Amino acid sequence: MKIVRRAGALSAVLVVLAAQAQTPVAHAGTVEPSKKAETVVSLTFDDGDVTHPSAARMLERRGMRGTFYVNTETVGRDLKLTRRQLAAIAKAGHEIGGHTLTHLRLTELTRSEQRVQICDDRRTLVAWGYRPTTLAYPFGAVDSDAKSVARQCGYDAARAVGGLRQWKCPDCPAGEDLRPKDRYAIRTPGSVREDTLLRQMKQQVLNAEKGGGGLVTLVFHRVCDGCGVYSVSPGTLNEFLDWLASRKAHGTVVRTLHDAIGARYLPLPSE
Ligand SMILES: [Zn+2]
Repeated sequence: MKIVRRAGALSAVLVVLAAQAQTPVAHAGTVEPSKKAETVVSLTFDDGDVTHPSAARMLERRGMRGTFYVNTETVGRDLKLTRRQLAAIAKAGHEIGGHTLTHLRLTELTRSEQRVQICDDRRTLVAWGYRPTTLAYPFGAVDSDAKSVARQCGYDAARAVGGLRQWKCPDCPAGEDLRPKDRYAIRTPGSVREDTLLRQMKQQVLNAEKGGGGLVTLVFHRVCDGCGVYSVSPGTLNEFLDWLASRKAHGTVVRTLHDAIGARYLPLPSE
């Protein structure tokens, strides 16, 4: 009798679940407490550094994918990725994005120089077989010209540096909108540096989770021990990635910037 009652209760639950599955709109008050707003973390790695293949593998081991921004003119140079390494990163499912030809500060260039830096870099990436949809401005330096040139060169979005809440900007929002208001200046916390603590990286994500979700794009450069101001130790990154994987239960996921904002591939401009 008891068993029958339980079976009855179970089918009642199933009926309720089936009814919920058919109802696309969640009603206030009926949402389970675990159903929180989504926080998407994008892990971006700038400058095509020679340490990036191992960083990519750290992500892959946890089923994560990142975004790698390269300067095509420097690929194959000392301490930079080779074309073969770049291809391997892309083949593993990571996003390859543009970072301009030679990493000049765009805000100090004329519009036609910006066009060469952004469009020719993207043209090269396309010639190498990639489909770049997002750009990262070198040094995060962006003005209205650089934004419109990025758009003309066929980028669907571009990443700035800064604009989100961190110790330098306590009043900034904790997360960027998943549909950023300015797709050509996507906000981030400041770059992760050698002196950035694991605790601070975690706090960025926790703040966004608490603040109703959104997009947290982290900006990394070199991934090695004691190799400059703009570096993160592999040990710290590993610990952070383990922690990040555990946040899935809190509605936090890791996506490439392309996937996070649903970027579209747009054609190159005619020369
Ligand atoms: Zn850079």
